[in-house]
Amino acid sequence: MTETLVPFAEATTRYEPVIGLETHVELGTRTKMFCGCTTAFGAEPNTQVCPVCLGLPGSLPVVNRKAIEYTIRIGLALNCEIASWCRFARKNYFYPDMPKNFQISQYDEPLCTDGYLDVEVDGRTVRIGIERVHLEEDTGKSLHVGGATGRIHGAEYSLVDYNRAGIPLVEIVTKPIPGTGADAPVVARVYVTELRDLLRSLDVSDVRMEEGSLRCDVNTSIAPRGASEWGTRTETKNVNSLRSVERAVAFEIERQAAVLDGGGRIKQETRHFHEDNGTTTAGRSKEEAQDYRYFPEPDLVPVAPEKEWVEQLRAALPEAPAKVRARLRAEWNVSAPEMDAIVNTGALGLVLQTVAAGASAADARKWWRGELARRANEAGTELAALAITPAQVARVSALVAAGTLNDKLARQVIDAVLDGEGEPDDIVQARNLAVVSDDGALTQAVDDAIAANPDVVAKIRDGKVAAAGVLVGAVMKATRGQADANRVKGLILERLS
Ligand SMILES: [Zn+2]
Repeated sequence: MTETLVPFAEATTRYEPVIGLETHVELGTRTKMFCGCTTAFGAEPNTQVCPVCLGLPGSLPVVNRKAIEYTIRIGLALNCEIASWCRFARKNYFYPDMPKNFQISQYDEPLCTDGYLDVEVDGRTVRIGIERVHLEEDTGKSLHVGGATGRIHGAEYSLVDYNRAGIPLVEIVTKPIPGTGADAPVVARVYVTELRDLLRSLDVSDVRMEEGSLRCDVNTSIAPRGASEWGTRTETKNVNSLRSVERAVAFEIERQAAVLDGGGRIKQETRHFHEDNGTTTAGRSKEEAQDYRYFPEPDLVPVAPEKEWVEQLRAALPEAPAKVRARLRAEWNVSAPEMDAIVNTGALGLVLQTVAAGASAADARKWWRGELARRANEAGTELAALAITPAQVARVSALVAAGTLNDKLARQVIDAVLDGEGEPDDIVQARNLAVVSDDGALTQAVDDAIAANPDVVAKIRDGKVAAAGVLVGAVMKATRGQADANRVKGLILERLS
């Protein structure tokens, strides 16, 4: 069935979207939220479990102090109020991936409330309100086997892996974001991007969307322009890439506009996003209010972070990514679009690491934004996935600065590193790639070039020194690009003076 859609530009001319984002972040603590089990990713199923995270009778949870610390740091970085006293709550529901049949979460007493995150969209600042940041435990993972889609429908049987059950999970909920118009999908993507970068700078999570340590639910509603009330929202679940966040919002706007145009009404429901074709389909209906029967968790004492501790954490926050970008822009003297490109191609961290390994910022940018960006593009991969390290790029850059390599030879060395031939210095030696600058080896090539180009020689003798470029080119060709061009020019002029 193909859905009726209103083209995006038309939909946003007549309807005003309101979006909201709920982001789940798995914290990078060494152990789980309420027990000592490890949180390492990728182990054999059900090998990282204990009576507490399996919810066995009689086991008692104990709060992970590091998880509280990480959550407070996230709240502070998002300009939130930090609660001086709050409790965990039991959220009751029945599902196989929930060993206790309730999830320990926070309900009406979240740890952090009422903050904001500023994001840049086309050079203007959009302030995204943060409703709450709360802490809960992750569920296990179900694997439905035998069906065509990997979903439970049509599956022959299901397997459950509890390694993930009990990993600390932070939920970051925005306030509704009105007034973004046709920018709504971009605002959603830029917000998640900025949030991801902020969390990464705090070093509280590895924020890998593809591994599920950062997961996003996208709320979208639309109302006719000028309407006094917002429309009914849908909640698109587990959107697993930055690009998908943007596409999911755009699709919902187009779909909802068609429903309203046809005289229908929007159902409040969860929807699933499909990466392959960028559409959403209906999931669970939320028309009947869910009743999780929340109540305060009786097995845990309240969390009451001391004011001095919170202030210590505040004072120790790292510089926010937006500030880092603004500072580097000024230091490096690059334009805003160029800085955006450095960030969006994932080059920023690599450039900084290359600088830390000894390269100049200009050289580091030149390699990562030029030659290496081209290689990544050709290979259809991320810059960070290229088989070359910032330290190796810095070494190539140093060899150029020292005159051992020229740019052309440097590109050959980079090729060889990418092909797995080893370290730059070994490659230079093994392939005999260093610039030829000793005069003995160059003299013959220079003499040959002079003998072969009498008319050029006559011009140079007439004072047209620029003509020497032709002879330099001939020598470079004869030495397969390995001559030091400046030295060659010096030798030619010496000989003809
Ligand atoms: Zn455990």
